[in-house]
Amino acid sequence: MNQRAGVKMERSLRRVIVCGGGLSGLAAAVTAAQAGAKVVLLEKAPSLGGTTVLSSGSVWTFTDYEAVREHIPDGDPALQWLVCETFDESRAWLESLGVKFKDIGRLAIHGHGHSIVPDEAIAILASRLLSLGGEIALQTALHSLLTHAGIVKGVRALHDGRMLERQADAVVLATGGFQGNPELIGRYIVSNPDNLLLRANPWSMGDGFLAATEIGAASSPGLDTFYGHALAAPPARLTFSRLSEATQFQGPLSVALNMQGLRFADESEGIGEEVLNQQLAQQPGGRGVYIVDDELMGQPPLAQGRGPLIRVIVDRARSIGAVVVEGRTLRELCKGLAEHGIPETRALATLTQFNDAMESGRTDELAPARKRFRRPLSKGPFYAVFVKAGITFTMGGLAIDEQARVLARAGGSSPYAPVPIERAYVDGSTAASTSVGEHYRQTPIPGLYAAGCDVGNISHSAYMGGLSAALCVGRVAGRNAALQSNYSGAK
Ligand SMILES: Cc1cc2nc3c(=O)[nH]c(=O)nc-3n(C[C@H](O)[C@H](O)[C@H](O)COP(=O)(O)OP(=O)(O)OC[C@H]3O[C@@H](n4cnc5c(N)ncnc54)[C@H](O)[C@@H]3O)c2cc1C
Repeated sequence: MNQRAGVKMERSLRRVIVCGGGLSGLAAAVTAAQAGAKVVLLEKAPSLGGTTVLSSGSVWTFTDYEAVREHIPDGDPALQWLVCETFDESRAWLESLGVKFKDIGRLAIHGHGHSIVPDEAIAILASRLLSLGGEIALQTALHSLLTHAGIVKGVRALHDGRMLERQADAVVLATGGFQGNPELIGRYIVSNPDNLLLRANPWSMGDGFLAATEIGAASSPGLDTFYGHALAAPPARLTFSRLSEATQFQGPLSVALNMQGLRFADESEGIGEEVLNQQLAQQPGGRGVYIVDDELMGQPPLAQGRGPLIRVIVDRARSIGAVVVEGRTLRELCKGLAEHGIPETRALATLTQFNDAMESGRTDELAPARKRFRRPLSKGPFYAVFVKAGITFTMGGLAIDEQARVLARAGGSSPYAPVPIERAYVDGSTAASTSVGEHYRQTPIPGLYAAGCDVGNISHSAYMGGLSAALCVGRVAGRNAALQSNYSGAK
């Protein structure tokens, strides 16, 4: 056997286990199988698709990296660059498998995107995986990771109440984040997890995050940030399959009050509604109202002129039992709000102060500020929808490098390994002129990769697309899991 054939043989024998069957897991699994690996995909739920199949299917991200840095400066630059740089190629790959894309043009502030039909895309990826010799095990949940001498060697998984062990050369974690786990939500995001409605699949409970951190993986910055939208608050009847219909996208154009009748955020901050929604989660009960006037009711919720009119969104909320208060004047509206627990006088004072600032142009006197969509609520009737914060995915998660390798914590509680002192100072810099971060590095855990919402700090507080990150990082994780040898950990 010649050397080339030998390499091929070695590659074709690599066994890759992917945990999670949403877009990130399937993108990783198919890419790994195309690279010659023997792939097994484990999915905890009875069917594939996770939050991906609940989504609206807009595969978008920022068109240029500089704009990402401007709007999401706290995210990881290398991972943000990776998503921007590989977006077109990843989309073309998905298209080459038969997934149909519809161009949806310019989106959000700097985004550009295409839409897919999510369940069709998942079905195409699954059938491609099977045709490449891959295996899919449903109702089989990652429990923990098998390791030997610091190298990941496979997984323990639960199926039908039994614990199974499966060996592998590499494992990809793609279990979809930890938004379904109230204990982790309480630890990292909001002290009372009941403040948040789950706007995602119910299976993603941080299993990938917990299994990896148990063997020493580092968590990313931004564990307290998340993506989501406010939903029509109970008594509205919410179902997992109709989350989009309960979503109140109009927040950034509205005046948002908490249950004390106070504004609590610059409603217009962020790319969509994600920053406002995160601040709503910190209000008493995670509740509030989004107030619009009749003119706004006739507009779509985002400035780009896309999506259903706000009137349609409010009507949908009403039809599922949400409380929607209406008033011909702001005074009448506030009387109605008082019947649902918001103090009338304070709410009216807040709205009057907002309108005065908008009309006089003295917006710098307003606290919180209002940087965009500056107009008074002036044309009655006025409408207030009662909303509650919703969580779609956690933005913090596992720390990975740009090869999607999960990084290790150093000994002790710090996630960083110190760089040997002579290397840190190799350029002759002094302690006074070197930042703390430059003294440290993180090393990968051999054999362990992550993708999708299990990865932290691509988006950070503001959002650069969920499906795009799942697709792009999933592809990188799958390719490297299939092709990289289990390196020693040295960079
Ligand atoms: C209503 C709604 C609309 C949205 N619209 C958009 C949009 O238009 N554009 C956009 O970019 N994003 C959108 N999103 C967000 C987007 O859906 C997610 O960011 C994306 O689907 C995440 O992909 P993922 O593969 O990381 O997670 P998922 O698709 O959730 O996949 C994770 C999978 O892991 C499985 N799993 C969990 N634990 C285990 C375990 N222990 N073992 C094995 N498997 C496990 C889960 O069951 C799930 O199938 C939307 C979300 C919602 C809810």
